[in-house]
Amino acid sequence: MSTVNKPLVIGNWKMNLDFVEAVHLGQQIGVMLRNKPAEHTEIVVAPPFVDIRSVSSIVTSERIPIAVCAQHVNPHDNGAHTGEVSTSMLKRLGVEWVLVGHSERRASYAMDDAVVAATLRAVVRSGMKAVLCVGEALEVREADGQDEFVREQLLSALNGLDPKFHDQVTVAYEPVWAIGTGLTASTEQVRAMTTHIRLVLPTLSMGASRVLYGGSVSAQNAASILSEGRVDGFLVGGASLKAESFLAVVQACDDCYALMANRRS
Ligand code: PEP
Repeated sequence: MSTVNKPLVIGNWKMNLDFVEAVHLGQQIGVMLRNKPAEHTEIVVAPPFVDIRSVSSIVTSERIPIAVCAQHVNPHDNGAHTGEVSTSMLKRLGVEWVLVGHSERRASYAMDDAVVAATLRAVVRSGMKAVLCVGEALEVREADGQDEFVREQLLSALNGLDPKFHDQVTVAYEPVWAIGTGLTASTEQVRAMTTHIRLVLPTLSMGASRVLYGGSVSAQNAASILSEGRVDGFLVGGASLKAESFLAVVQACDDCYALMANRRS
């Protein structure tokens, strides 16, 4: 874990759970957090678009200490973009966060670097927080090109961003080969990349941004990635679909942060 920032855990539900199932999971998370609150860790969930209104409603009415994130947004304000959703529509539903440039969108939905940069700007201009997802494919890693690849992704998305928006950006390092595969980057690989990202961000005057890791994170591996990987938290896919496994990741962050705070004092 890095020594500065409070941990952040975001559950990406992807295209799973209809609105009834999503409400049920939200409520389960609420009950479990009431029994054992997260003391240090900020918790965010990213349901599919059609579930957002229902999840936002129960989060507000049941005072569940989590924020709602969208998995994607269209960078245009409105107009002829069939099937898409705008930032103002999300804000109206109480959404505070948006994932930008998740590798599944980059790979399957023509989200190139220019669209990622435009989307990130639309999100922060609207007042929401952006989670910029970066990460290399397996062939890039095998050719040892991951540092340059991720650097380019960061620069193309963030270069020239108005400094007044810098604190609305979180970076998530998600090696494509570790997403949904059960393969996790080793703690050395995570540490090397988060260190690299923390060297690139200050060149953009963004040294304070949180850096998360994502890629087959689970209750079993969260603690070791945290203690050795120099991350500020996690973007969690599969393990976020069950309240127990999601909150076990949150708990690992809470414990690790408390331990480090003790050592500092
Ligand atoms: C993700 O979707 O961002 C992700 C990291 O998924 P998983 O945890 O399932 O690998």
